Amino acid sequence: MFAVKRMLRPSRAAALARIWRSASTAAAPQPIVTPDIHFNKLFINNEWVDAQSGKTFPTINPATEDVITDVAEADKADVDIAYNAANEAFRLGSPWRTMDASERGRLLNKLADLIERDQVYLASLETLDNGKPFNVALGADVALTIKCYRYYAGWTDKIEGKTIPIDGNFFAYTRHEPVGVCGQIIPWNFPLLMQAWKLGPALAAGCTVVMKVAEQTPLTALYISNLIKEAGFPPGVVNVLPGYGPTAGAAVASHPGIEKVAFTGSTEVGKIIQSAAADNIKKVTLELGGKSPNIVMADCDFDYAVEQSHFALFFNMGQCCCAGSRTFVEDSIYDDFLEKAAARAKARTVGSPFDASNEQGPQVDKEQMDKILGYIDSGKSEGAKLVSGGARMGDKGFYVEPTVFGDVTDNMKIAKEEIFGPVQQIMRFSQIDEVIERANNNMYGLAASVFTKDIDKALYISNSMRAGTVYVNCYDIFAAQAPFGGYKASGSGRELGEYAIDNYTEVKSVIIKIPQKNT
Ligand code: ADP
Repeated sequence: MFAVKRMLRPSRAAALARIWRSASTAAAPQPIVTPDIHFNKLFINNEWVDAQSGKTFPTINPATEDVITDVAEADKADVDIAYNAANEAFRLGSPWRTMDASERGRLLNKLADLIERDQVYLASLETLDNGKPFNVALGADVALTIKCYRYYAGWTDKIEGKTIPIDGNFFAYTRHEPVGVCGQIIPWNFPLLMQAWKLGPALAAGCTVVMKVAEQTPLTALYISNLIKEAGFPPGVVNVLPGYGPTAGAAVASHPGIEKVAFTGSTEVGKIIQSAAADNIKKVTLELGGKSPNIVMADCDFDYAVEQSHFALFFNMGQCCCAGSRTFVEDSIYDDFLEKAAARAKARTVGSPFDASNEQGPQVDKEQMDKILGYIDSGKSEGAKLVSGGARMGDKGFYVEPTVFGDVTDNMKIAKEEIFGPVQQIMRFSQIDEVIERANNNMYGLAASVFTKDIDKALYISNSMRAGTVYVNCYDIFAAQAPFGGYKASGSGRELGEYAIDNYTEVKSVIIKIPQKNT
């Protein structure tokens, strides 16, 4: 059925992937291993303030389990104050509402420039707070953050309506206006980047924001807040609150004045957000979990597919919502693939994220590590074949061995649920239509991928996947220009690209009577 047609090796994708997992080079910038902590309070109305309750919580270095610093803990009272600041900034006639759209773009570009100026510090702070390798923080998180702000800087004065020829003697046009005060709740796996994905389109559209950052990783978002002030954004346009989900997060999701909520995190919490938002009919966008299938055909570039499948799962310690966590391998290459995948995982370097020779740092916290170890136990007890790793590494820091299970079957827990850790599941298939059905037979639909040299198979499979992003002969390619989001329980709405602007705009029809001569 499928003629073999050679496809070009995706050299650009390979190059990008190399950057993402970039090993050290002599010229590479060196991290600041003990970055000073400048900001640990709430950022409201361009000021640093304590929580109303006076409470703080510790943020932990996942590599050492030491407390980095105590951070002000926002709750409902602080969300109310931040909302008032954001609402005032959105008031008609305010500096933000009267600002030229192109000036909003200039401010976003200025913010990107300031992030670039401080990129080594920011990447170091991200590594300290999150545990991701410094080279990844710098080469992926910070680099993509800068590009995201620049991309949306370009959109500010291009958000256009239409003129519409309605019946009768009228002049009708649409305006795409900012939604208003938006609540944004972000996770800990890509703190800087998720902040950019949320703030970029919201600010481009002219909204104001109350953002609740993840309790595990508040530090870089707070530093960015100060850059927002330095760039010249008026007070109240962006308000950033560290705090816990069920308190501060819930107050954002249910606030009666907040008109839109954007959330990235677990599907479980996404459901809570969606129902909390129902009270005042908030617009909701959700970017949730995944259990993404990665289909490896026998005609693939074998070594490249092994490496990319490894990258698809192990990148960011497996803490990616779109991780390629169900690796389906065609029968005839299955045994070789499993052997090579296990060898690659065993060769993966794990240790201090500040050491450039390490590809993998710790998981973000003890809760995540314990959850992952629980899934590993379930894989063992359900009869999957453990071919690499399978345990915690050391007893200090939240390190987990790069783990690979072979002979995984679809009904096993590790094949169905999101593990969010460095645990690769390898499954066998023999027919294309069989693997398509199995790949789609999951509650999630965030991403999928296929490795093949046959263009017919690539297109047939990518069209068949019920997923928001399909990678062909590559994985984890993120670009500010390309929309990202999920089918099914992986969410609703799309982030990035022009699609994200729609989330932050209301369409208004203006209809003007045109008097006719002699009528
Ligand atoms: P994960 O399981 O990956 O930690 P979560 O979905 O728990 O992801 O968290 C993502 C974000 O959602 C974090 O900022 C967290 O504090 C927040 N959050 C958690 N629970 C709630 C909740 N009930 N309401 C609002 N936000 C929440």
